[in-house]
Amino acid sequence: MLYIEDVSVSELAEQYATPCYVYSKQAILNVYQDYSDSFATIDHQICYAVKANSNLAVLSVLAEAGAGFDIVSRGELMRVLAAGGAAAKVVFSGVGKTRDDIEFALNQGINCFNVESVNELILINEVAEQLGKFAPISLRVNPDVDANTHPYISTGLKDNKFGIAHDKAVAVYSQAATMSHIDIVGIDCHIGSQLTEVEPFIAALDKLIELIHKLAELGIELAHVDLGGGLGVRYIDESPVTIADFAGALLPKLTQLNLKVFFEPGRSMVANAGILLTRVDILKPTEHKNFAIVDAAMNDLIRPALYQAEMAVIPSALPDSVSVHDMPSWDIVGAICETGDFLAKERLLSLAANDLLAITGAGAYGMVMSSNYNTRPRACEVMVAGTKHQLVRKRETVEALYANEMPWGNKG
Ligand SMILES: *Cc1c(COP(=O)(O)O)cnc(C)c1O
Repeated sequence: MLYIEDVSVSELAEQYATPCYVYSKQAILNVYQDYSDSFATIDHQICYAVKANSNLAVLSVLAEAGAGFDIVSRGELMRVLAAGGAAAKVVFSGVGKTRDDIEFALNQGINCFNVESVNELILINEVAEQLGKFAPISLRVNPDVDANTHPYISTGLKDNKFGIAHDKAVAVYSQAATMSHIDIVGIDCHIGSQLTEVEPFIAALDKLIELIHKLAELGIELAHVDLGGGLGVRYIDESPVTIADFAGALLPKLTQLNLKVFFEPGRSMVANAGILLTRVDILKPTEHKNFAIVDAAMNDLIRPALYQAEMAVIPSALPDSVSVHDMPSWDIVGAICETGDFLAKERLLSLAANDLLAITGAGAYGMVMSSNYNTRPRACEVMVAGTKHQLVRKRETVEALYANEMPWGNKG
């Protein structure tokens, strides 16, 4: 029988129905603790990347543990505040901050804007001047290192839309230093996601260190260096570097640098703290392939369709006697009218209609990327802690999906 902490998933499916995301509170805290312990010898702040999973329950658990947050929108900042997070521990990333976003963040007193272009810097200075405030900033430098990850989640190469080119960074810092309402506090990079090796992080850090020294020569002293997120996780058989080894490789250089260090982990904090529970609706064996049509679909979990991501699918209870080698191969698919609507392909499983399955590694970039395509209400979310469990987001109703719409000619 499959359990998440001390609760069986079949009990959860009975009570909350499916599809349903389930998160383990302890699993999230364990990773946070692992980061904290691994970097305990230096002054550091873990800023959880909210976009990986922005449920208020996840944010509140991390806020209580002392985490800061990396946000990419005003909406994410509002979530952090609603969950009890401190604005003073928030860094604001993203290429498209609007005047409204900047004003709101300045009024809340965030820790730092991670600035991605000269025009953004000018805009932040302008808004800060209007509010009579100083805006703390770091420049997100694009170190032009290859993170060896899927092209859609690689962000540190020259031709990505992210960051300020490494060879322009000193000039932009010098420009920032002349701006009346800008307070230069740090330097930042984020080179990609699901990185399984430590070498790209070291290459990026080396490039930042070189810049930090050049800036010091110009009299621009920084208080922090932010290495972004991006540490990978095991979905099926990947062997990502552990957090302890990641720290071990970076610590000698970071200790010498003697600046406060920020990290912005998203995926590695929550991916393996979550599963998506789904039930088999219909089995459709065909001459060429066997399809198991389940009640979750690409609108609930788009990673397989979007990045060809492979995630493990495990049954809620193992059959007594069948060996895996005797099991048929199934494509686990949703009911949406798209051939790309699959959750997993060619998995050896012994399946019957109504079976309960768990898609693992679903805690990051799962619910946050969900949609209502095909007018499908979004799944509910549940958090488990020991023997306790709690609904942390209600399942949507169909009526709510069109509540903001009106038929043509309706004046209401
Ligand atoms: C997405 C993102 C992160 C988090 O990345 P993970 O791979 O989920 O750890 C951190 N920083 C920035 C700027 C991001 O865009």
